Amino acid sequence: MESVTRDEARVPYPRRIFCNRNLRMDRIRFVGFDMDYTLAIYEEAMEHLQSEMVLERLSQQHGYDERVLQAKYEPGFAIRGLAVDKAHGNVFKMDSHRFVGRVWHGGGPLDKELRRTTYTNRMLSPADPSIVMVDTLFSLPEISLYSQLIAFYDGLPEGEPRPTPERLWGDLRDSMDMLHRDGTLKARILADVPRYIRKDPDLAETLHRFRSANKKLFIVTNSEPNYTEAVMSYLLDGEHPAYPRWRDYFELIVTSARKPLFFSSEEPMREVDADWNVVDAPIAQHRKGAIYVGGNAAELSRLGGFQGDDVLYVGDHIYGDILRSKRTMPWRTAMVVPEMERELELVEQHTGELEELAELEEARFQLELDRAAAQRNGARGQELKELLRGLNQQISDLEAHIANDFNPYWGPLFRDRAELSAFGAQVEDYACVYTSRVSNFRQYSPFWYFRSPRDRMAHELRR
Ligand SMILES: [Mg+2]
Repeated sequence: MESVTRDEARVPYPRRIFCNRNLRMDRIRFVGFDMDYTLAIYEEAMEHLQSEMVLERLSQQHGYDERVLQAKYEPGFAIRGLAVDKAHGNVFKMDSHRFVGRVWHGGGPLDKELRRTTYTNRMLSPADPSIVMVDTLFSLPEISLYSQLIAFYDGLPEGEPRPTPERLWGDLRDSMDMLHRDGTLKARILADVPRYIRKDPDLAETLHRFRSANKKLFIVTNSEPNYTEAVMSYLLDGEHPAYPRWRDYFELIVTSARKPLFFSSEEPMREVDADWNVVDAPIAQHRKGAIYVGGNAAELSRLGGFQGDDVLYVGDHIYGDILRSKRTMPWRTAMVVPEMERELELVEQHTGELEELAELEEARFQLELDRAAAQRNGARGQELKELLRGLNQQISDLEAHIANDFNPYWGPLFRDRAELSAFGAQVEDYACVYTSRVSNFRQYSPFWYFRSPRDRMAHELRR
């Protein structure tokens, strides 16, 4: 493991900030935040609520059998970066090269032979219309319900009507979208905010530290103005003596932003009045404490006085927050990966086994070299081949054992066997830094120099 500086060693491992591309915080003058799953951490109760409501919709609006209401959301089943094969009703994990790893069909792993014929040696194209990548935390319940419903329909006797896997996915997706769009889900959350949203006791102080270092803060969220008001005031009102109201922390607050479109659109920004009515007048200059809707990144930059690389944008969604803000704007990015906290605790608990694994892999590398050298020597070559086979078995057993503790269905979030997972590769490619929560910034000086350990290529490391 890469050594950490003395300053950083005092930060507990699951709360550290990890760096892919050097980031000098002294150069950052503006720090922007997404809200949902970034500033606002959702409780598992929200996933259960989503699931119940989606199943109700399936039965009431899409004409599904009432027995679908029996399906129960299984927390921990789905992880980000999974993909759904709508044509076959499968859910699978991919590695960074888009090769298929573990495949789940309904209530269990897909039959080995089927898995081989359907996916082996097939590199999946992102353009394949029957494959859907799941990359938001809001969609985890869909994956769990999809597998459960596939299992339910598979179990029905021959001849009973059932939707195609493709239709089932479409209806689930549609129901979930509608729940978010028509405000019914948010109305339930607002009726009992503390039940669904977790307050981070360090958030107020974290934001204050940024501000004390002369950094200006802003919000760009896709949530509507009244929802943003309710959630943010729950999180921040009265949490710090210098900021009585949550709006006191931020220079600019943009809601209903329609990310990722926000980064490329030309939609004008508008202010909302105290009754949440949109005031149809151009914004010449922004007003602190006001809430805006719509807009676009270029207009926001002009109003805020951003240069581009002096902005750090913090969000949890790889596509909507991280990739687009980097591609269309030269903003620096910090990705919040809430799942990491538990994963890193597990890494700590498995330190011994992970070291053993690294040693075995090193031994295998040596053995492979020896075997190549002994190729002309029949007896020795055979002996080394046997040794290698044993070692391979030992490595895969240990790998499976460790992966099982991370997630019995999918293994670790960032890895797929010896490769990065598709999700891990995206985080590595697009996020300048990544961490489990916003308040982890509190542990670092606002002038910290985050340095990437990845300044060398594989061939440079092994000399
Ligand atoms: Mg979000």
